[in-house]
Amino acid sequence: MVIETNGKIDILSLTPDELTEQILFMGEKKFRAGQIYDWLHVKNVTSFDEMTSISAQLRSRLESLFCIKQLFICKRLESSIDNTVKYLYRLDDGNYIESVIMEYSYGNTVCVSTQVGCKMGCRFCASTIAGFKRNLLPSEILQQIYIAKRDSGRNITGVVLMGIGEPLDNYDNVICFLGQLSDPKGCNMSLRHVSLSTCGIVPRIYDLAELKLGLTLSISLHAPDDESRSAIMPINDRYHVDELMTACRSYFKKTGRRISFEYALINGHNDSYDDAKRLAELLGDFVCHVNIIPVNKIKERGYTSDRRSAQRFRGFLEELGINATVRRTLGADIEAACGQLRREAEASGKT
Ligand code: SAH
Repeated sequence: MVIETNGKIDILSLTPDELTEQILFMGEKKFRAGQIYDWLHVKNVTSFDEMTSISAQLRSRLESLFCIKQLFICKRLESSIDNTVKYLYRLDDGNYIESVIMEYSYGNTVCVSTQVGCKMGCRFCASTIAGFKRNLLPSEILQQIYIAKRDSGRNITGVVLMGIGEPLDNYDNVICFLGQLSDPKGCNMSLRHVSLSTCGIVPRIYDLAELKLGLTLSISLHAPDDESRSAIMPINDRYHVDELMTACRSYFKKTGRRISFEYALINGHNDSYDDAKRLAELLGDFVCHVNIIPVNKIKERGYTSDRRSAQRFRGFLEELGINATVRRTLGADIEAACGQLRREAEASGKT
């Protein structure tokens, strides 16, 4: 994607073909584009000066025409329990975003933000409380992975789009990011190792299905019917549960990929046997998986939950024939709930 800011082209958002076109336009040889793409997306350099296979003269020409989007690490919290690392990044316009590296037995997964803040207004979510500022560029989503990789020295084998923001509300940039992430000349990550989580922007679910990307779609369902879903998720007033489920069925039919449903458990709101029964009826004919998340406490809201009630709810679902797990708690000793660090940084105006 060709994006120009302050008279310079955002080089990390360019696909290999777009970069080649730019390099040829400069009167340079085609193979230079391959070298530059490799420096950026495989070696993950953050300045043109680090591209040592390229002449100083060309590096300075690149510098005058292109910019490499930077993210500055403002805060880095590492859990002593499970090696989860949380980053608070400052963007070049002074906004803040967050990413998390989660360690699993099969490798490290980075949870990335897709927007600065969020417009969706989910009642239990800290990302929304600090307000929406802007969409992230493909380069800014990629850099969250590249910088985390460089800083931690870890090998990154998976990505989840579950940080701050609603990925399907920043559709074009997210699709461009996924293309770059999976490009064999660059990061070369199989999209089988990528999950995209959405609160349910129905028309975009249909668009995404057409692309057959092979990623895992996670739907933030969180309630089994319109009344209780609308009470916690304003998006439900726009796209009702039945419309969302029709879109999910169509997604599965088109892509053959099992859908994962997220269910943030809130004591006294969506955790009864009756809720489980309604959920089982809703998902009965689906090839799916339910991921139960005990809701993270947010200061401004009175919602609570705990692992015991989550296990109880999982028991209800299993009894009703629905495949469910309780999400592992990661980084319990650091503030890992998304949006919390950004909110603190905004409140204190710190850099
Ligand atoms: N906007 C996207 C992705 C970002 S949030 C979406 O809605 O899916 C990633 C997941 O964390 C979503 O399922 C979201 O509903 C959930 N979440 C947000 N705040 C939470 C909280 N306080 N406790 C538990 N889950 C939360």
